[in-house]
Amino acid sequence: DRMSISGANGSNALRRKPPPVKRRETPPSSDQESWEQRSSEGEAEDEDEGDDHDITKILSKLPKGVDLQSARQILNDIVVRGDEVYWDDIAGLDGAKNSLKEAVVYPFLRPDLFSGLREPARGMLLFGPPGTGKTMLARSVATESKSTFFSVSSSSLTSKWHGESEKLVRALFGLAKVLAPSIIFVDEIDSLLSARSSGSEHEASRRSKTEFLIQWSDLQRAAAGREQSARDKKEGDASRVLVLAATNMPWDIDEAARRRFVRRQYIPLPEHHVREQQLRKLLSHQHHELSAEDIEVLVHVTEGFSGSDITALAKDAAMGPLRNLGEALLYTPMDQIRPIKFQDFEASLYSIRPSVSPDGLRRYEDWAREFGERG
Ligand code: ADP
Repeated sequence: DRMSISGANGSNALRRKPPPVKRRETPPSSDQESWEQRSSEGEAEDEDEGDDHDITKILSKLPKGVDLQSARQILNDIVVRGDEVYWDDIAGLDGAKNSLKEAVVYPFLRPDLFSGLREPARGMLLFGPPGTGKTMLARSVATESKSTFFSVSSSSLTSKWHGESEKLVRALFGLAKVLAPSIIFVDEIDSLLSARSSGSEHEASRRSKTEFLIQWSDLQRAAAGREQSARDKKEGDASRVLVLAATNMPWDIDEAARRRFVRRQYIPLPEHHVREQQLRKLLSHQHHELSAEDIEVLVHVTEGFSGSDITALAKDAAMGPLRNLGEALLYTPMDQIRPIKFQDFEASLYSIRPSVSPDGLRRYEDWAREFGERG
C-alpha cells in the first residue's frame, strides 16, 4: 500500500475545476479580446500591452506551417492560466504523485539529468473512475513543474470546417514547443483516440485523431534522439513537451494509441485513510460539531465514493444549517448559523450516492491488472 497521508492544506480541496472550454463554432477570427481580458484579470493594468506584445512574440516563433488564427484560438481557449493546483491539494494518490514527479516534474526542472537511459516518457495516461483526481493531478503537475498547461478535449480540437481540425492540432503542438516546458492535457482521451470514430459524421474527429497521432510521434522522435536541428530548436523545445491524458473509459482507446502511452497510471477510488484525510480537510475551515467517532463512521459509510462524491457530500451537508432556516437565511447573522452536524451528513447520504458501482469498479481493476501501473 503506497498511499499515505500527504499535506494538510485545507481549503484548496474545494477549488472548482475550471469550466469546460467551449470552442467557437465559427472559423476563428483574429480578435484577441478574450485572451487579453482573461490574462489581464487580476493583474496590473499596465501589463495589457505586455500581453499583446507577448502574443505577437509567441506567434512569431511558430514554424511556418502553423496557422496563426488557429494558434490564437488555442491561446484563447486552451491555455489555462491561474487558479493553480498543488500536490497538497490532492488527497492520497502518493504513488501517482511519485510517478508523475519522476516522469515529468523532475525531468522538466532538470533536463540535463534526464537523458539517455533516463529519457522520460513523452506520454502518460491516467485512468480510473470519474472524480478521482485525474484532472487535479494534471494541473498540479503543470504547477509544480512550472509548465504551460494546455487543457484540451476532443471537441476543442475538432472543427466542422474542412481542414480546421488539423490546423488546430498543429497549432497546439507548435505552441506547446514554443511555450515549453508544456503539458498537453487531454481530458477524456478516449473520445479523441477511440477505436470507434468512423463514418462520415465523425470525419472531423477522425482527422483530428490522425493529426494528433502524427504530431505526437514527431514530438517523441524529436525528443528521443534530441536530434533537433538548429531550426527546430529555435521553434521550441520538443524534449519538454508531454502529453498527459485522462480517461474514465480506458477500454475505448484503440490499441495502437494505447501502446503509445508507455506509462499508464491507475487512479483508484480513495482508500479508508484517504477518505478520512479528505473529509477532515473539507471540514477544517467549517463551523461543525462532528466528533472523531462521527468522522470515523462517515469514512466507513463512504466506502466506494470517489473524491468528487465525497466533496459533493460535504458540500451538500454544509448546506444543512442554511436549509433549516428557510427565508430567515436572508437576515440571520453569521454567528447565529448553527454548526454542521452529523445529522446533516446522514440526510445528504440519501441523495449523494457513489457514482461508480461495484461492477463498474471491477472493470477498472481488471483493466489496471492487464494494462496499468498501480499506486
Ligand atoms: P477526474 O479528472 O478524475 O474525473 P477531478 O480531478 O476533476 O476528477 O476531480 C473532481 C473534483 O473532485 C475535484 O475538483 C475535487 O473537488 C474532488 N476530488 C477528486 N479527487 C480528489 C482528491 N484525490 N483529493 C481532493 N479532492 C478530490
